[in-house]
Amino acid sequence: MESPWQKNTPGMTVDSGAYTAICRTATPVTPMRIEDIRQRLRAQGAKPCHEQRVLRQWSQALPQDGGKRRPEDFLPLEVRRGLPDLMRDLSALARLRSEHPGDDGSARLLVELNDGQTIESVLLPRDGLCVSSQVGCAVGCVFCMTGRDGLLRQVGSAEIVAQVALARTRRRVSKVVFMGMGEPSHNLDNVLEAIDLLGTAGGIGHKNLVFSTVGDPRVFERLPQGTVKPALALSLHSTRPELRAQLLPKAPRIDPAELVELGERYARATGYPIQYQWTLLEGINDSADELDGIVRLLQGKYALMNMIPYNSVPELDFQRPSWERAAEIARSLHRRGILTKLRHSAGQDVEGGCGQLRAREVGAAQRVHVVRAASSSGRTLAANSRERQAGDSSTP
Ligand code: SF4
Repeated sequence: MESPWQKNTPGMTVDSGAYTAICRTATPVTPMRIEDIRQRLRAQGAKPCHEQRVLRQWSQALPQDGGKRRPEDFLPLEVRRGLPDLMRDLSALARLRSEHPGDDGSARLLVELNDGQTIESVLLPRDGLCVSSQVGCAVGCVFCMTGRDGLLRQVGSAEIVAQVALARTRRRVSKVVFMGMGEPSHNLDNVLEAIDLLGTAGGIGHKNLVFSTVGDPRVFERLPQGTVKPALALSLHSTRPELRAQLLPKAPRIDPAELVELGERYARATGYPIQYQWTLLEGINDSADELDGIVRLLQGKYALMNMIPYNSVPELDFQRPSWERAAEIARSLHRRGILTKLRHSAGQDVEGGCGQLRAREVGAAQRVHVVRAASSSGRTLAANSRERQAGDSSTP
């Protein structure tokens, strides 16, 4: 089989049947994994302690000739000779295509992978970084630009860490959230490998690694088994199973009440609260019924509710509630005993929707195709909501 160090070429096959089955691209690639780096170092005579040192310096964006012990006193000769080539290859895993600073101190990065695909990373205020785990996404949330394009390919564990290394050349990073493009549970092996490295050699505190998911049974099996246990964020968006199924059409069908129970078990086991994510869509999931549902599910739970007013984009038909309305929703939940934070989506003044920078990049012709090919359920929901609102406003 072709080495993943070689540039992937059209028509190349991939080693994972599952991956081939879910990937829509006609030119699948082999995503680079941390294990590939380890094998390359081992072939040069590296022992685990040598691998760990090289990976630590790389993932922390430190020079390979830095550290307490000089490389010539520690690393085998062949490893030292191979370092310049290795560093060149690692820096090609995630290259900065463009940077878009926001007014809130965040900055959206359009990042090019070594096969030319692009993903987004976001530098967040207070030393955070949001990384992407897939190019595109198969969940197809109707309010998300990334979901419109389907899944193009997985992001390898080395490419995930490379996003952190790249960000660290620009700013300090002490928190990494997996909330960028992609659904981490659909790329579990790569994401968990990256989490393991970031939580060890990468120097990130375990509770500062945040695995964000729509909810998948495999997540609740695998996360508790890891040495590095990340914090968990669950995208809820609705407490009503049928509405949630419309909003997140390809998410596993787990009843919201069951999802909260699974989350609670993980929160109690790790000692970190679950962060629930709720994208507020005007007229869709901001009703009194939904707020009652949130109180019913989350009262007494070790949980934090993050309310994020939807970030309007011209390509999608949903509306963002006013900030005052969103603040009132957050206050009313708080009064009813639900720890709630109202959050801006970072960098929303710069192509703020997840996947929007990439969508701009791939070009107008493809965007038209994507919009046409998209499921109609999002438009139907948004249209129904507008009709309801028109009806409401005509009521005396
Ligand atoms: S919101 Fe997240 S899970 Fe949903 S389609 Fe977008 S990237 Fe995928």
